[in-house]
Amino acid sequence: MKIGIIGGGIMGISLGYFLSQQGSKVEIFEASPVLGGLAGSLSLEDGATVDRFYHVILSSDSHLRQLADELDIADQLRFRETRMGFYHRGKIHSMNNVVEFLRFPPLGWIDRFRLGLTVLYAQLVRDWHSLENVGVEKWLVGLSGRRTFENIWRPMLRAKFDGGFENTPATYIWSRLVRMKSTRSGASQKEEAGHFIGGYATLIKAMVDKIQTAGGKIHLRTPVQEVLIEQGRARGIRVDGQERAFDAVVVTMQAPLFHRLIPGAGEEYRDFLAKTEYLGIVCPLLVLDRPLTGYWTLNITDESIPFTGVIETTAYIDPEYVGGHHVVYLPKYTAPGSRWQHMSDEEIRTIWLQNLRAMFPDFDPSSIRYFLIHRERYVEPLHLLNSADLIPAIKTPVENLYLATTAQIYPALTNCESISRHARQTAQVILTCLLPTSFR
Ligand SMILES: Cc1cc2nc3c(=O)[nH]c(=O)nc-3n(C[C@H](O)[C@H](O)[C@H](O)COP(=O)(O)OP(=O)(O)OC[C@H]3O[C@@H](n4cnc5c(N)ncnc54)[C@H](O)[C@@H]3O)c2cc1C
Repeated sequence: MKIGIIGGGIMGISLGYFLSQQGSKVEIFEASPVLGGLAGSLSLEDGATVDRFYHVILSSDSHLRQLADELDIADQLRFRETRMGFYHRGKIHSMNNVVEFLRFPPLGWIDRFRLGLTVLYAQLVRDWHSLENVGVEKWLVGLSGRRTFENIWRPMLRAKFDGGFENTPATYIWSRLVRMKSTRSGASQKEEAGHFIGGYATLIKAMVDKIQTAGGKIHLRTPVQEVLIEQGRARGIRVDGQERAFDAVVVTMQAPLFHRLIPGAGEEYRDFLAKTEYLGIVCPLLVLDRPLTGYWTLNITDESIPFTGVIETTAYIDPEYVGGHHVVYLPKYTAPGSRWQHMSDEEIRTIWLQNLRAMFPDFDPSSIRYFLIHRERYVEPLHLLNSADLIPAIKTPVENLYLATTAQIYPALTNCESISRHARQTAQVILTCLLPTSFR
């Protein structure tokens, strides 16, 4: 089987790896000059390589760890105990163990107890379907109480969703609580965060080596212009104006981008794809000559600060792996149509630095070695209340055309753990569909 895969992010490369290991000849087409997509890296002027966006591997990311074993790169994984905290009313509050939790000043005793109960209760929920039609506010207020909701949850949700979250189901926060708790173990509840030496580029290279050994090909700087569809069946793709024939085509990019590639598909399906909405991101990356907070994540409950959090990846990545630098990301998630996506880099830089100084009066701007601003329009699919039927299927209405995209990952959060798991399952679905009926 000759399978064309569009997109060289984690999804496309993982899929290429799983398909090629089962005998398919794959060709992966990536528009940009490097592989990795949102999980890609960049080279600084001094030659150091850093991730464009922050990425953490949790100790509980079992699928990724299994994949690393399979690829013989588990020795490239590094984990470290980390700290997270809250920036609340001008102060940083550490939140790393039960004692700190019990002392958390913004909340009274009863509120703290209820907050703890919310985290524990989430671990006990087995049937997430029961949360799908419950609003996140209703669920959290019921468990944590109104005061905790207003003090903690509301500002965090507003930051994440760039304002409104009225239409967000409780499954969102449930998934987050389960994922964050999964990495804490033992009475101390200590948390470990990890990474590959060299970032996700290391995982990608290991998979690409296997794909190429199995006869597969990778094409960089090769944007696919169209999926060629004839009489309801995909027969290949168009790149550089040339037609390329494939037995099957798999698209791995976000639904609105996929929509543009298939003018030959039925209107009904294209309209359906256009309904999937995404959060975007504006994410300044600060490369510093010294640590900023020492916390991996600082959640911000002050709504006047425009960024969602302060993420210092060198709290768990030894600076020796990133050119001796200290690396901090200040992300702002953006809703569809958000004004933040349209601001110039200069405006973002000015506003971000003003707020950074307000948060950390001792912050010395001369500690900045690089200040780079990255934006993406389609980052996280938005799953709204009562909208599970909007999730697109792997098998599209076009014969031999398949979709493997983050919008299909629900209720799990979209991260490289859930993506590589999804890619493994998707490869099975595709191979089963492609088998002649007599072999199934
Ligand atoms: C700020 C931020 C923080 C994150 N933090 C984490 C984290 O801590 N842990 C974690 O596991 N995950 C994290 N993620 C999520 C993770 O990076 C993404 O979910 C994942 O990389 C998405 O992979 P993908 O392959 O599905 O999509 P993408 O990475 O978007 O890949 C799609 C690819 O398709 C290509 N493409 C598009 N159109 C065409 C075309 N016409 N022809 C050819 N190629 C095309 C694009 O160039 C891109 O490379 C984070 C993401 C962001 C933005």
